[in-house]
Order: sequence, then C-alpha cells, then structure tokens
Amino acid sequence: MNCTYCEDRLSDYLEGALDAVERGLVEEHLKSCLVCNELLDGVRTVMHWGKDLPAQLPAPWLASRIVSNTPHVIRVTWRDWMVGVWKNVCEPRFALAVLTSTLMLGWMGSPALMEPVDRGPSPSGAGTRRPVSPVTVKKPA
Ligand SMILES: [Zn+2]
Repeated sequence: MNCTYCEDRLSDYLEGALDAVERGLVEEHLKSCLVCNELLDGVRTVMHWGKDLPAQLPAPWLASRIVSNTPHVIRVTWRDWMVGVWKNVCEPRFALAVLTSTLMLGWMGSPALMEPVDRGPSPSGAGTRRPVSPVTVKKPA
C-alpha cells in the first residue's frame, strides 16, 4: 500500500466504512507512515468540527422560491414543431440559402458533361478536361 491509496480511504477509515481487509491495510500503513498519521489527525479534526456545527434549517420561503424559479417544461406537439419549421422557412436567410445553393450547384456543372481534351503529353500523364454543351450537334457528312 502506498500513501495515495491510504489517503483515499482515510475518511472511510474514520467512519468505519471500510471492510476488514482494507481496514487492516490502512492500519498497517499507518503504523509505519508519519505523513499519513498527520493527515489522519487533520481529517479527524475537520470531521470533529463538522459535527460541532449547528444544523441549519431551510428558510420557509426556500421551497416555494425554488419551484417558482424552475422553468416549466412544456410538451412540444407536432403542431408546435411544424409552426417552428414554418417560421424558419419564412426567414429571408432561408430563401438566400436556397438561392445560393442553387446558383452554386448550377455553376459547378456536372462532371458527366466533361470530355477529355488531348493537348499532347503532359508531365503528370493525366489528360485535361474541358466542359462541353449537353446538346450535341451532328456535323453534316
Ligand atoms: Zn503514507
């Protein structure tokens, strides 16, 4: 047993809350450790002070004040949820987000509309691609 193990169990030791094995280990350590004995005396003194303190009764207004300051939990129904969604959809920022997303998706284009362009051998070996129109025009033969 080390001092940390003993320190963790000192208050339980003083209250008689340890089982026989742990109590024996703590007592064995206390026989040989001056530091833990000093700590034991300190904990014993503090516990004695705590027993001498007068018990404080709660003020008569305390319970009603706690209840009045506790927020009321209101159950959210599906109608309340829909109203909340509708309020967010009606916000100008939502319309701006939809417009921005639409424009960005339109500008990005589709990779399926890209075809490779042969510009000769490149150092990396990968061909470059250029956008083409989705409408193909047949050349007359
Ligand atoms: Zn010790």
